[in-house]
Amino acid sequence: MSLKVYNVLHRKKEDFIPLENGKVKMYACGITASGDAHIGHAYQAIIFDVIKRYLEYIGYDVTYVRNYTDVDDKIILKARELGVNPTEYANKMMKKIDHELSQLLVEKPTIQSKATECIPDMIDFIKKLIETGHAYSTENGDVFFKVSSFSEYGKLSNRIIDDSLSGVRKNVEPGKLDDKDFALWKNAKNDEIFWDSPWGLGRPGWHIECSTMSMKYLGETIDIHGGGKDLIFPHHENEIAQSESLTGKQFSRYWLHNGLIKVNGQKMSKSLNNGILLEDLLKKYNFEIIRMSLLENNYRSDMNVVDGMFEQQEAKIYMIYKLFYLIDLLGNGYKPNDNSEYLNNIDKKFRIAMDNDFNTSVAIGNIFEYVNLMNKMINKNEIQEVVDMKNALIKVYSTLGLLQQNPSKVIKEIKDKYLALYDIAETEINEMILNRKHYKDEKNWLEADKIRNKLLERGIILKDGNKSTEWDIDIPPKVRIR
Ligand SMILES: [Zn+2]
Repeated sequence: MSLKVYNVLHRKKEDFIPLENGKVKMYACGITASGDAHIGHAYQAIIFDVIKRYLEYIGYDVTYVRNYTDVDDKIILKARELGVNPTEYANKMMKKIDHELSQLLVEKPTIQSKATECIPDMIDFIKKLIETGHAYSTENGDVFFKVSSFSEYGKLSNRIIDDSLSGVRKNVEPGKLDDKDFALWKNAKNDEIFWDSPWGLGRPGWHIECSTMSMKYLGETIDIHGGGKDLIFPHHENEIAQSESLTGKQFSRYWLHNGLIKVNGQKMSKSLNNGILLEDLLKKYNFEIIRMSLLENNYRSDMNVVDGMFEQQEAKIYMIYKLFYLIDLLGNGYKPNDNSEYLNNIDKKFRIAMDNDFNTSVAIGNIFEYVNLMNKMINKNEIQEVVDMKNALIKVYSTLGLLQQNPSKVIKEIKDKYLALYDIAETEINEMILNRKHYKDEKNWLEADKIRNKLLERGIILKDGNKSTEWDIDIPPKVRIR
């Protein structure tokens, strides 16, 4: 087996062969620090985190660059609204977003670059494009890329550039010769953040940032360039045009794009007010619930976040960690075998799924098959085997950033959350169980059942054992918290 990836450039799955044997150079477009991170940002960050981790898992030495856009119109607008300095505002947002992503177990990229740290490199890049006739400056001090100078324009997005538009001037931006041309450098307007350049005071356009940072840290040709599919046009198309015009070489060998997030079937938008902030999600759910939910989707398709989805996932995570907790109890005194056949098998199945264009959906589906198997093994009292299998699962799935938590901590966290949601205290439950025991002792089954049903209505399930009665929360919640 070898890794196959869907290359958007050729619109098909291809064998993944990096330029340099054993090494992967990868760049993913990062976040514009103009506001809080939402679930869409989390989705993209998690996907490329997993791609990087898997490439490392199969033995590649990966250099992964992710950028922050820390200067742009939206940042300037937002800072102006708040009456603060745009640089300080962007720094504050980047710090906050970094923290939230780390809570999601997104690893830091090898290099995290900021646009404002590479301004001189961008100016050099633009100068060379002007020298070679691929760009032009205007009287106002703007610089535009001349799209007609790059014959392969449109190859990524598969757009046929409408020639009837060529030469048409909408006159929106003075000095722009062709409507298709895009800004490389924007002259400074009043009170904006700006840098000195051969074209006067100004700041870079968005597209040139990524081309410059990718080349600065990874060289002229990289293996993987990634981002959300909404970036294919114009952002990535423009990156290709600038970069390949400059070097005459292929900019990125593989282009990988993730789907977008929808909320109950609709695109997230300000007007619908249906955005989900990462901050709010992390307050509501254990990070693994969010991570697993997002990875259960195939990365190339849109992810539809529907009501109740995270609660369903919460129930699954709760079940897994309860099983792990039980295995730890039963396996007390057993030593996990680090070279078990389970490790080989789980690893093999994991690679089959992931080698198929990082199919995390299948890889996660496999976890639940192992959960069923482990339950059967426990019933058959195969303790060493179940200890080995759990050990293997934790090892292999660390690549997805899953199954790595302390079981009792997760169990307690979820239990406490639902006791609060169901508005019932442990003391109250224990009292009711004790009352029920009295009825049972008197063989008053009717009253005993009444108590059991009353608890069930409030989200608590009773399980009668030989000697005692245990209770548990009933999740996912049904109508109780709606
Ligand atoms: Zn970019």
